[in-house]
Amino acid sequence: MPLFRAPRGTRDLLPALHAPWERVEAVARDLARRYGYPTIETPLFEQSGVFERAIGSDTDVVEKELFRLQSRGEEQESWALRPEATAGIVRAYVQHGMRTLPQPVRLSLLGPMFRYDRPQAGRYRQFWQWDVEAIGDPGPAIDAELIELGYRFYSEAGVEGVKVHLNSIGDPACRPAYLERLAEYFSAHRAALPPLERQRLETNPLRLLDSKDPEMEVLIAQAPRLVEHLCPACAEHFAAVQAHLAVLEVPVRLEPTLVRGLDYYTRTAFEYYREGAEGQQQALGGGGRYDGLVELLGGKATPGIGFALGIDRTVLALQEQDRDGGAPAGTLAVVVGADPDDTAGRLRLATRLRAAGLAVRADLGRRRLGRQLEGAAREGAHFAVIVGDEMAEGHVQVRDLPAGTQRTEPLADLERYLRRAEASHHHG
Ligand code: AMP
Repeated sequence: MPLFRAPRGTRDLLPALHAPWERVEAVARDLARRYGYPTIETPLFEQSGVFERAIGSDTDVVEKELFRLQSRGEEQESWALRPEATAGIVRAYVQHGMRTLPQPVRLSLLGPMFRYDRPQAGRYRQFWQWDVEAIGDPGPAIDAELIELGYRFYSEAGVEGVKVHLNSIGDPACRPAYLERLAEYFSAHRAALPPLERQRLETNPLRLLDSKDPEMEVLIAQAPRLVEHLCPACAEHFAAVQAHLAVLEVPVRLEPTLVRGLDYYTRTAFEYYREGAEGQQQALGGGGRYDGLVELLGGKATPGIGFALGIDRTVLALQEQDRDGGAPAGTLAVVVGADPDDTAGRLRLATRLRAAGLAVRADLGRRRLGRQLEGAAREGAHFAVIVGDEMAEGHVQVRDLPAGTQRTEPLADLERYLRRAEASHHHG
């Protein structure tokens, strides 16, 4: 047994796992660039109030899952690790007066989030999200831009069969009346409610639709639906979002019970699922409109919309499809030598090639040439550059490890030779 282990619910992303990870992140960063959502980095922790106010105190994320940190000394602040990115980004939008910039402000963030959740498959205490926000546009066109962007992410990452689940959860004009109906409905079935849901009925009946309790399934399916009680403005917005998505040819499934777990959402709510993996805890990502959030965090009333896509679950989905893309393009060449003790000579040549931009390792063990060559092959290097007697005349041997062939190259040409080989190495 090792003395220490990574904390429960966290993972070491070892290089073999990090390789598909990097490819997925590269897709996200490239899409952010093409769609014009530049990167913002916010702190990994914020004043707890940022999350308590934004997300809502009676949500799972704040009630049970917030990683709280204790400040020391005079600061007397209560901090928490970020459980999601939107609240921090909106806090930054307000703090930096971004409403004076051309609207909407488009931003993206890729990084770890923290939730003190019960760990299980696909659910970690530290996980990664790609978060995209457009603040300052009431939609509906921007809603469609974002939903399509998320959809494209999965298709470019190679995740197959992804569908958008879409709903509208209304706004302060129509939701209160609906909530009353919903509360009446669930009150009529109070005896059948699990204790936690009975408690939520008092604080926020909408949350019951989001319940993870299997006993709630039938009750939820028969509950009154918000989409059937939208005010005219929300109904019009919702119809326009769908019309835009149809133009963009994004396949959408209307999902009347989709409410999302956080309080700040208004109108458009959406999640991404793979066909056949549409259960609780299986969403690949999700997002929604939050027209009240900027004001809630102390800014002027400003509409906004965003999404967060889970990187962990995306990589998991690719692995299930056997599509994680294999090993990364690693070392191109290993510098080995006939004189085991000449580590300086090997290191000097490797350093020169690295300075020229090539991925080259030197064998720094003092072992026989044969063992050095074995090590290079096992590492998956394409070439071994052999430093030997020819070095005196300015030549080295270059061994093509997979092919088993060997040739003499003048040192002066080595860089060019390896560089040409590198192009095929990456595509091979
Ligand atoms: P949420 O805002 O909770 O809907 O999260 C958006 C996405 O982040 C989810 O669809 C998941 O892909 C991912 N996610 C959320 N919580 C976790 C977690 N505990 N572990 C791994 N991924 C998560």
